[in-house]
Amino acid sequence: MSFDLNKLVRDNIRDLTPYSSARDEFSGEARIFLDANENSLGSPLVKWYNRYPDPHQKDLKKAISKIKGIGTEHIFLGNGSDECIDLLYRCFCEPKKDNVIICPPTYGMYEVSGNINDAEVRKAPLLARDFQLHIEQIEHLIDEQTKLIWICSPNNPTGNSMYREDIETILNNFNGIVVIDEAYINFSKHKSFIQELPDYPNLVVMQTFSKAWGLAALRLGVLFASADIVAILNKVKPPYNINQATQELAMQALEEVGQVNDMIRELVGMRDALIKVLENVPLVEKVYPSDANFLLVKVRSARNVYDYLLAKGIVVRDRSNVQLCDDCLRITIGTEHEITALVRTLREYSKK
Ligand SMILES: *Cc1c(COP(=O)(O)O)cnc(C)c1O
Repeated sequence: MSFDLNKLVRDNIRDLTPYSSARDEFSGEARIFLDANENSLGSPLVKWYNRYPDPHQKDLKKAISKIKGIGTEHIFLGNGSDECIDLLYRCFCEPKKDNVIICPPTYGMYEVSGNINDAEVRKAPLLARDFQLHIEQIEHLIDEQTKLIWICSPNNPTGNSMYREDIETILNNFNGIVVIDEAYINFSKHKSFIQELPDYPNLVVMQTFSKAWGLAALRLGVLFASADIVAILNKVKPPYNINQATQELAMQALEEVGQVNDMIRELVGMRDALIKVLENVPLVEKVYPSDANFLLVKVRSARNVYDYLLAKGIVVRDRSNVQLCDDCLRITIGTEHEITALVRTLREYSKK
């Protein structure tokens, strides 16, 4: 196998002179900052919000580096994973020419972002029997113009993790970039792929603060990759893509790992208990195994169940129009109280 990042990156990006911000051009000690046209008098909010944030998020990356055991040069931060997804397209996919592979049913942004960036999105659906990767189909779809393969594990909306050996097969045989989206990894028994980064120059792992960390509102996605891939993404990102409030609050959150781990344990416990309860609700036909903080549940006439729940003030995700998810609802693990209300309402509907 030969992986050549220089050939993979778009020519215009390889040759790009990135924007150099005021904070980039200055380095050293200074007391008086008259270089960035900020409001020197202050702001109506906290004093330092009149200043642009650190474009390289050095302190936040150091804090993440410590927790993950991975060097800061291997960390890229995005305005949510969604920005990381878009940047990967913009760096590696020549519009109207290059293609990517996705494995539906999966997270919708891989396809939407591909369409926005005018990359062809090829589909190798998961196997119907167990929602695992269809390796032969993926191999069949790969050609010279295939730049990215998107693998979501644990997968949204099916909830299962992909077999590690299958992912390794792709990593070992594909000369483009393999993106593993681990948005739900904290809820899974399986190991993250970030430890494998030294072995695979073509590996990109995405995680996020939106799920287990409970910080969806802050918009913070974390991408782990080789220093070379991170350097390319850094060239293309908007200079101040992670705002000051997010940088500060995420650092505070990182000091509360214990509390986050407690929440993860609690959510996993409730998930596993809810599986058993739902399996005994008459209208439920199947509860799929889950490594995430949600359950994919097959019911009798999903749309009607969805409407009934909604009428009772409970909103779940109707996935019944999604390929391989006929009559399926995706249900996020809520609080004890919320789950009790959900189960009570489903039982009520069963008796109608
Ligand atoms: C929720 C989710 C994300 C998170 O995206 P953010 O932009 O970081 O909020 C990423 N990938 C998958 C598969 C998800 O379900």
